[in-house]
Amino acid sequence: MRRIVFALFLLLVVSCGPNPPAPVKVMAIIPTETGSYETREVQLTTISNLTALKGTIAELVGAGRIIVDDSDPLQRNLPALNDTQRFEVIVRDRGTDVRGNYLDRAGTLWPSDFHTWNMTTTYFNYENAFLYFQDVLPPAAPPTELQGMRVFYWPEVRINTAAPLTDNALYLSFIKSFVVAPFEKDQRIPMGMNLGIIGHEVAHKVWGKRVFDDQGIHPALTTWSLEPFNLLKSLDEGLADLHGYGATCQSLARCRSEFLSLSISDEAYAKQRDVARNDACVDRNLRTALKSFSQDQWVRGREMYLYGNVWAVALYQAGVRSGGELGVKSIIKDLLTAYDDESDDSNGTGLKQLINRNVNNSMAFTPEVVAGIIARHITNVEMRRAFCGEAINRLQLECLNADCSDKMVGNPCMGASPRTTCERIPPTMP
Ligand SMILES: [Zn+2]
Repeated sequence: MRRIVFALFLLLVVSCGPNPPAPVKVMAIIPTETGSYETREVQLTTISNLTALKGTIAELVGAGRIIVDDSDPLQRNLPALNDTQRFEVIVRDRGTDVRGNYLDRAGTLWPSDFHTWNMTTTYFNYENAFLYFQDVLPPAAPPTELQGMRVFYWPEVRINTAAPLTDNALYLSFIKSFVVAPFEKDQRIPMGMNLGIIGHEVAHKVWGKRVFDDQGIHPALTTWSLEPFNLLKSLDEGLADLHGYGATCQSLARCRSEFLSLSISDEAYAKQRDVARNDACVDRNLRTALKSFSQDQWVRGREMYLYGNVWAVALYQAGVRSGGELGVKSIIKDLLTAYDDESDDSNGTGLKQLINRNVNNSMAFTPEVVAGIIARHITNVEMRRAFCGEAINRLQLECLNADCSDKMVGNPCMGASPRTTCERIPPTMP
């Protein structure tokens, strides 16, 4: 009998992990004040089931199978499907609850295996990315899209490839799910443990909700090509890097623009995406690629990120020159108001409105017009002029007038003078 009771007790211990109510004190691997990663006690304030890593902000799902396969007849017309249908034909295995294992040491829960360290820290990073967006989004439009974020942890993902995806973190807009892929080659900070990278991925969800009107596959992405398409994709990526930087400001290590270098093994490439680099310029090669690459070439190559980086740098430099880290935060807030703006003022149109109005007229979606919309939303005049000067110079905007008044509605760059950081390349248009 005693043996049976003991066996039952063991069963209970094994099947029920600790699930204390939030806030939960738990150990995670995070960057400390010096930037070095260490184990530190943190509080998860939104967790409702610690062992399954589920809470109001994020829900981790283990061992799913996500297969995008163009030869699959069920996937022949993904844009025509609704969210649920698309999820059903792409997610072949919906996965199971993850299981974290913890040891209780004086009221603090210590992960007892690698995956639990990784998952706990990943959840903590989603909480911080949420806090970042809550802080910078307009109070009238709180980040409701960042509730219950679905995160496939260590799934099998194939996107038209035979080999499963490894060493990456993704937001898959077409199934509105995040992926923390297995790592195989990279020996650096795992992506899920990198707050900047989680911030980058979460930024895609914010963009999808606000600029793409929550459409998993926006019609502009299927019908546009060349410069309008490439510009649209680059904005999504480059601004996600800027938000990744912004999210790092939530950490003890404070704002770190070099966050990609911590996790990406190609260090030269990671540096090229640093939003604080001062030498980011559109050069002849990048401009030729922007104007001539097909959709496929653009999304598979690095140019998409490098062109997006020039946008992020223009914003970052304008912010930092006008007011340091707080200046960058201020310009990020203005940028987010530009994502979606229905205001009656005809000059107040946001990016969402510009895209939707021109779904069948992609040529109206130009770098000059986009820069004008962002500039119009920058409230501080000095910072707006600084952004205009950065954008006109770095992005090689093709305007007849020095302040681009011929291309931007409402002349938001009045009084701006282009910087001279980048060598001017001759315009392609007269
Ligand atoms: Zn991205």
